[in-house]
Amino acid sequence: MNTPSAPITQDVHTIPRKLPEGGKVNLVGLTREQLRDALIEAGTPEKQAKMRVGQIWQWVYHWGVRDFAQMTNLAKDYRALLDEKFEISVPEVVTKQVSMDGTRKYLLRIAGGHEVEVVYIPEENRGTLCISSQVGCTLTCSFCHTGTQKLVRNLTAGEIVGQVMVARDDLDEWPQPGAPKDETRLVSNVVLMGMGEPLYNFDNVRDAMKVVMDGEGISLSRRRITLSTSGIVPEIAKTAEEIGCLLAISFHATTDEVRDRLVPVNKKWNIETLLNTLRDYPRLSNSERITFEYVMLKDVNDSDADAKRLVKLIRGIPAKINLIPFNEWPGAPYQRSDWERIEAFADIIYKAGYASPIRTPRGEDIMAACGQLKSATERARKSKAQIASEAGL
Ligand code: SAH
Ligand code: SF4
Repeated sequence: MNTPSAPITQDVHTIPRKLPEGGKVNLVGLTREQLRDALIEAGTPEKQAKMRVGQIWQWVYHWGVRDFAQMTNLAKDYRALLDEKFEISVPEVVTKQVSMDGTRKYLLRIAGGHEVEVVYIPEENRGTLCISSQVGCTLTCSFCHTGTQKLVRNLTAGEIVGQVMVARDDLDEWPQPGAPKDETRLVSNVVLMGMGEPLYNFDNVRDAMKVVMDGEGISLSRRRITLSTSGIVPEIAKTAEEIGCLLAISFHATTDEVRDRLVPVNKKWNIETLLNTLRDYPRLSNSERITFEYVMLKDVNDSDADAKRLVKLIRGIPAKINLIPFNEWPGAPYQRSDWERIEAFADIIYKAGYASPIRTPRGEDIMAACGQLKSATERARKSKAQIASEAGL
């Protein structure tokens, strides 16, 4: 049997924030400290810097203002200075598709001409924005469309925050000055479940989430942010300590033999190592439970024995298990498990005392469902045979 030869380590870089000579620095995505430093460097007196940060922060992240001229509580010549040195820019929307079920998918263009996809999923009492952390992914999970994309680059913190801002623009969610405070939130939750492995771009993801969580701006609570990882063990404790958001793990298999094939990073950090690290997460992050994501692949990982092994493995970890019916993509070497099989699997888990929701595929008609994301410009697709051989089929 062939084993995947794909890289399981990080070998990408972020496009540096520093722009070509004369280019303006984008303020979006800077942490408060970074913004302060940038303002001082641009000539803001140190004594005023903290106040200016607070004012600009509120304009950008509370009101959604993109133009310094609108920042009316700043002196005119200071606004002109800001405009000369800085910009407030978010990724450009190339296309927007709206699914029959209301799901929206945006294709965004970022520096260098690369593209990422962002998905907005409206539900009855919340709206979830699924954002990306990388263009492509260095990992090559054999059931994932993103993993077949060759080009990979990390997103900057600004490009990550920018995805949230673009969605708020499109949903017209910035507050109106003078209007009564509206507590309903269209983007009420953010999940880092789009393209890329967020823990292979840790610093940018952390800084971006700090901006998104900041109480004087977009102000999403850390409990409304879920980071999904394939299991980058050394970064998991850091996620608890430095971000404190909820964690989801792409688990997908109950033996190392199968997980090695589905999630090749398992060869580096196997099931036992991963679970040992996860046992500490709820305490470290002061959060309730971990979500185990489990993609349902016909005759691969969906037997009763798998379900029983799964509950045994995670015993002692406060958890819920999110079953994801496999979403097909062109050339995919797997099939979705039958519905009765998924329900039987869910039932075993539920009877063992765990919530076992089955994730209803959303936005399938626009290829917006989990694992289907892959920007249209990236055409260097692996052949079906190559995918199958890497999957050990
Ligand atoms: N790289 C991160 C986050 C992005 S993927 C991670 O792997 O966790 C978000 C979820 O969708 C993961 O659980 C992933 O395994 C799952 N997924 C990927 N491809 C899928 C597919 N074709 N069908 C269903 N789920 C898929
Ligand atoms: Fe990367 Fe996640 Fe897809 Fe695996 S499932 S290839 S880690 S995006």
